[in-house]
Amino acid sequence: MKWSLRIARVSGIDIKVHASFLLVVLYFAAMFGSPHGLLGAAFGAAVVITLFACVVLHELGHSLVAQRFGVSVREIILLPIGGLARLGREPSRPFHELVIAVAGPLVNVVIAVALTGLALALYGPHMLLSRQFFDSALGPPSFTGLLSSLLWANVALAVFNMIPALPMDGGRVFRALLAMAVGKPKATRIAATVGQLLAAGLAVIGIYVGNLILALIAAFVFLGASQERVNSQVTEAVRGLSAGEVCDPNAITLMPGDMVGSAVDHLLRTAQTHFAVVHGEHLVGTLSRDEVLAAAGAVGLGAFVAGVMRRDIVQIDAGMPLDELRPMFMDLGGRPVAVFGPHGFAGLLGYEDVSRIA
Ligand code: ZN
Repeated sequence: MKWSLRIARVSGIDIKVHASFLLVVLYFAAMFGSPHGLLGAAFGAAVVITLFACVVLHELGHSLVAQRFGVSVREIILLPIGGLARLGREPSRPFHELVIAVAGPLVNVVIAVALTGLALALYGPHMLLSRQFFDSALGPPSFTGLLSSLLWANVALAVFNMIPALPMDGGRVFRALLAMAVGKPKATRIAATVGQLLAAGLAVIGIYVGNLILALIAAFVFLGASQERVNSQVTEAVRGLSAGEVCDPNAITLMPGDMVGSAVDHLLRTAQTHFAVVHGEHLVGTLSRDEVLAAAGAVGLGAFVAGVMRRDIVQIDAGMPLDELRPMFMDLGGRPVAVFGPHGFAGLLGYEDVSRIA
């Protein structure tokens, strides 16, 4: 995502924060700063930053459990409206989806319990349940206020995320439970419809009470639910397809003795993203669009393709189903796979080709 900055890397996962997040920090600093001065501004910023640290822990909860189930995690992005852990693929088993979905809110429950313990130790049960403790979250700046706002925010995060509306965590739990009974495609249709109904209800409430942020979140949930429905339909449609069926038999190929310049010519005339380099009947290398352009810049148009092509070829069988192939690209770093059928080399498939289909 553009305008996002990497702030940390945990278990191989980049944690990025979107630039607009700075506006939220400034907004809270200003909100507490105007009645309480510089200390208030620092308090406002501290509340937002610790709160988003809890959101990061929530997303890490999802991510680390996903990794345990063999689902790779591309990155965690922090947006002003919350966090997002981008998984490499959807978990294939409903039970895995269930545990991954629950892990996030569970982190907030654990944090809330720990903060409750701390507040109990510091102030005793009477203070903890008092209106005074609850209100201290809104200032003036104090450690009690920070503790209170973090405690209630974590309770809210756990409860809110467990609303059974896809694509919220609760919706994923709901879908996973349904999928165990009726299968994933039908479970997704039901969960997406329920998600949209709940989102519509939430939007009405948001508009009625004049809470625009709630209405905005409802709109995101509504759109997210439609996206889940479409994704599921596409997945179903391509489930039966194999790698051999989607290879382009008329793809342009290069020869080792071709010049980089003629590869550039091909590149300009087609939308093909990968070129196979073929010697006689044999596949000897591959070149992607980016590699052709990089080679043209580095060694010039007169150099031979043989000198710049990639020779580390990953072979797959033409019968491999597409939904098994897609996760493979995570580890290939932009390389295509070479598809081999009963009659030998059938064509190259890049991540772009497969994601265009599905
Ligand atoms: Zn979550």
